[in-house]
Formats: sequence, C-alpha cells, structure tokens
Amino acid sequence: MSNSVLVINCGSSSIKYALVSERREDRIYGLAENLGASDARIKGITKGGQPIEIAIPNANHEQALETILSRLSEYQPQAIGHRVVHGGNLTKAELLTNEIVEKIREATPLAPLHNPAHLVGIEATMRLFPNLPQVAVFDTAFHQTMPDYAYRYALPKFLYTEHGVRRYGFHGTSHAYVSERGSTLAGMPNQGGWLTAHLGNGSSTCAIWNGKSVDTSMGLTPLEGLVMGTRSGDVDPSIHSFLAKNLGWDLYKIDRMLNNESGLYGLSNLSNDMRTLIEASERGNEDATLAIEVFCYRLAKSLAGLSCNLPQLDGLIFTGGIGENAAYIREKTLAYLPHFGFQLDQQRNNELKRGTEGRVDAGQGPQIWVIPTDEEGRIAQETRHVAEQQQHALATL
Ligand code: AMP
Repeated sequence: MSNSVLVINCGSSSIKYALVSERREDRIYGLAENLGASDARIKGITKGGQPIEIAIPNANHEQALETILSRLSEYQPQAIGHRVVHGGNLTKAELLTNEIVEKIREATPLAPLHNPAHLVGIEATMRLFPNLPQVAVFDTAFHQTMPDYAYRYALPKFLYTEHGVRRYGFHGTSHAYVSERGSTLAGMPNQGGWLTAHLGNGSSTCAIWNGKSVDTSMGLTPLEGLVMGTRSGDVDPSIHSFLAKNLGWDLYKIDRMLNNESGLYGLSNLSNDMRTLIEASERGNEDATLAIEVFCYRLAKSLAGLSCNLPQLDGLIFTGGIGENAAYIREKTLAYLPHFGFQLDQQRNNELKRGTEGRVDAGQGPQIWVIPTDEEGRIAQETRHVAEQQQHALATL
C-alpha cells in the first residue's frame, strides 16, 4: 500500500475511513460509530479482507482517530483527505491551512449538521499528525462551474450578495467521478454532454458539459430536487405558511417533516428503502407502487430539465445504491423520457451484475451507462494531487 491516502468522513457521531492505495486497487476501510457512547466501536476490514471490531467505550472523535491511525500507521499514508460537505464558494480541493479551516467554519450556516462534525475531525488530525499534508475535498466544489442563471434563485439580490443564498449542489465528488469514468469508457474523456443520476438514500442529478458541471438538482441545501429516501425534494415553498397557519406547525417541525418523514418513506408510509418498496409493490402494495412511480417520474423530469443546459446529449449515467442495482428503476425512468431517443437494451440492463460497470443501451441514441460510484477513490486522487502540488511548490522555493 505504498503512497496511500487516508480518506476521512466525519459525521456527528461517526467516522468513516478508507486507506486507498495509489492505483486505488487496495483498500482498508471501516467505520467508527456511536462515538461518545459506552458502546462506541470501530468496525472495519483489514488489508487481507478480514473483518475487525474494536470496542472504544466513550471515545470521542480524536480518540477514535488515534486508534484508527495507530492501526494504519505501518502503511505510512502520504496524506489525509477529508470529505467536507459544504465549501461555500471554494472551487476545488484545498490544502488545509488556517484560512481554509476558517472558510469551512464560515460555511457552517449552510451545512449546520455536517460542517461542525468535519471540523472536529480536521482539528483532531491536524493536532495528531501535524507533519502530514491534509486536504479538504468539498461536495459542492464540482458545481462551482454552474453559470449564474443556473445557480441564482429568483429572490431579492441582497440575499445572494450579503447572505450567500444561491444554489450550490452536492454529491459533486460522485458526479465528477462517474462522468469522468463514463466519458472515458465511451472514448471521449471529459468531452461532450452527459447527464448523471446519483440515486441513493440522498439523490441528485447533474448536467456535465466537457467535464464541467453546468447544472444540478440540489440547491442551497441537499433538500432541493429529487424525491429521496426520507427527503421530499421540490415542494411549493408556500407549504411552510400553509402548515403554520392551518396546523400550527413551527419551522423545526416542518423542517423535520421535509427532511426525515417525507420522500419514499412519506409517500409509501412503509420504508425509505427502494428494495423494500419494489418487493412490496410486487406483492400489490399500492402506496409502494405510487412511491416508485413518483420517484421515477420526478427523476425523469429533472433529467429533462437539466438537459436544457447541454448543447448536445451524449449519454446518461446511473450510480448510487439504487442507480447501480435497480434495473427496474432505470427502465421506468427512461420510459418517462420518450423524446430523447434512448434505446435501452433490456436484457443487458437486467443482467448487469451488482457493483459492475457497463453500457446498457442498444447502440443507438444517447449512451446509457451504469457506473458504480467511488467517492473515496476520487477524494484520494484529489488529495494526492493537492499534496503533490504542495511538495512541488516547496521543492522549487
Ligand atoms: P446508497 O445511499 O447509495 O447506499 O443507496 C441506498 C439505496 O439503494 C436504498 O434505497 C437501497 O434500497 C437501494 N438499493 C440497494 N440495492 C438495491 C437493489 N438491489 N434494488 C433496489 N434498490 C437497491
């Protein structure tokens, strides 16, 4: 595992980690969970593929990171890459300096659940490993190439200029990875017009022209856009005053309903999990059937809308737990896009095995690809790039 990069994704009570080798073929990964509680533990996979579980009762983020790093120290990572959800207006991965840490802090009102947790992890690793280059890779950065007419809301100008109210977009690492990979497999690396659909518990779409994001479905927060596991996606913003006036709900309750009680879960009244819904629908559950229909229709509508910013459409790429595994959802979504000339090869679509990449169109019309996402691999790649640039700059001083 020479020249490996350690990728860290800190949540409020968990830390996901992955040590990624230079050519991305070897991985050691795991999850520290329930941090701060008596049953805090690390569950992971070793280099040989063996599962491990280590109890770290009451450990905080720093203690968990210390344990993770001590177990990985024999591999001497060359750098640490932190996934950071919101980078405000930062346009690319950045070496973590005091100034960049301050920018992540300033973006906290835009990602109040995520950025504070990332900062805890960043500050801990900077204290523990002051000599290792550390890099922040932002979910928002890939979308900073959107034109103003795609990222501005039709709201009073001062909300944008003074308070940063605009569309940012998320899942940038995934959209960047699958669009680069798909266009490369198609023989036109980072060229042409592509639509990507990242469909997991959180879902978003993106339009990419010559390797750059030109529009995406998520906005100021990851609530805008598609129907998701428990998130509503687009609703009429007047729903806030409707619920306040008629049901007496406060902002906190409305926010929780839109983020945690809506989406597939809200529509089906059964589950946020697409597999469960497909099975229930096959057994005749009408609410599950409707939830799937709304999901696919709204996804198709989003893809059609984003295509407005592509001079031509070369292909569509599905990724994420649903996009990679649910042939039924891919087929249903394409059926709602009859004017685009997509020709799905049904057999290839149905036969594509879990976790494999492949082309599923019949050779005419825009290409259709399934590409398993690799956010950790992409974060490792961007981290390595930034760390090498820094070394080069120091060497030429
Ligand atoms: P992610 O957030 O990317 O891990 O994706 C989670 C979603 O993928 C959940 O809704 C799962 O039900 C869905 N998923 C995973 N495998 C399948 C499958 N074989 N068929 C349908 N949905 C799946």
